[in-house]
Amino acid sequence: MQQKKPLDPLRMPEMPSDDEIQARKRLFVGLILGASGLVCLFFVLLWIVPFVGLNAIHPYAPWIWGLVVSALVSVVLWASLGLVLNITTGRSFPFFKRQRGMTVKLFLPLMTLLGRALGISKERIRNSFIKVNNELVRSEAKTYAPQEVLLLMPHCLQNSRCDHRLTYDIDNCVRCGKCPIKGLLELRDKYGVHLAIATGGTIARRIVVQKRPRLIVAVACERDLSSGIQDTFPLPVYGVLNLRPHGPCLDTLVPFPQLEQALRRFLDPAQLAEIDAAAKSKPDKPSKRSRPAKSDKPSRPLDADSGQIDKTDKTDEHTTPTSA
Ligand code: SF4
Repeated sequence: MQQKKPLDPLRMPEMPSDDEIQARKRLFVGLILGASGLVCLFFVLLWIVPFVGLNAIHPYAPWIWGLVVSALVSVVLWASLGLVLNITTGRSFPFFKRQRGMTVKLFLPLMTLLGRALGISKERIRNSFIKVNNELVRSEAKTYAPQEVLLLMPHCLQNSRCDHRLTYDIDNCVRCGKCPIKGLLELRDKYGVHLAIATGGTIARRIVVQKRPRLIVAVACERDLSSGIQDTFPLPVYGVLNLRPHGPCLDTLVPFPQLEQALRRFLDPAQLAEIDAAAKSKPDKPSKRSRPAKSDKPSRPLDADSGQIDKTDKTDEHTTPTSA
């Protein structure tokens, strides 16, 4: 892979050439014309089909149109039936394996539109989306080695008066116990999972790309969890809502029992038994053996999942981590 040259801080960055500017303009103009052409075509069809009638276009046209509509209706019914079965039984069924994708990509935007029309708050809709997503992630019934799991935390968990900078090294925390970071470090040391704090969508994405987890257990508010779940798809994200006794984004808290329970659900049972045995034999000391290496080495090689992670940032303005 070609290495990028380091930038010389004393020199101005090179300006794009006239040809490059023209090429960018052409692409932009092409996209605008293409998109508006498609929209206009759709509107013309909306007008022309009822106006002239399908029979006037071709004798088979009503049947072809009927087939297209039936296919669309079948896809929607299949998706909703699978989703309902999945949520009610907690299991995923053959032929309904793509439910999480449908929910994440199709149903959340539709649910949000419908909810808005019915006057339901965005927060409630996101809350139910997170619950449904968690059910679907759980129903996939997969378990992971501790090194494949990333606990991703929002920066607002750190005590607002704490001076220790945790973004690049969470071990800068001196574990004074004034905020949940101490407990999270203990959880990381006990189970040997990765733990990271992100101050925004870009950093969250960078962490995910560096660690290459197979599962993220994320703590955040409704907004950041739902956008993070969507942005990192198909990587599974199990969401745990933070507690906000001082309002949003300030000295927030972690529901530890819920977080630990979720973590244990996804860890490989054999390794979990070893961890429990080690914790019993040394109840007061964190298990150094299970602690993940400090290096940024990915826990798994590049795979198709990671291609979905590095996408255009939409949520950098917000300061919680899961908007990856
Ligand atoms: S536990 Fe760590 S992060 Fe929290 S206030 Fe103490 S030193 Fe700062």
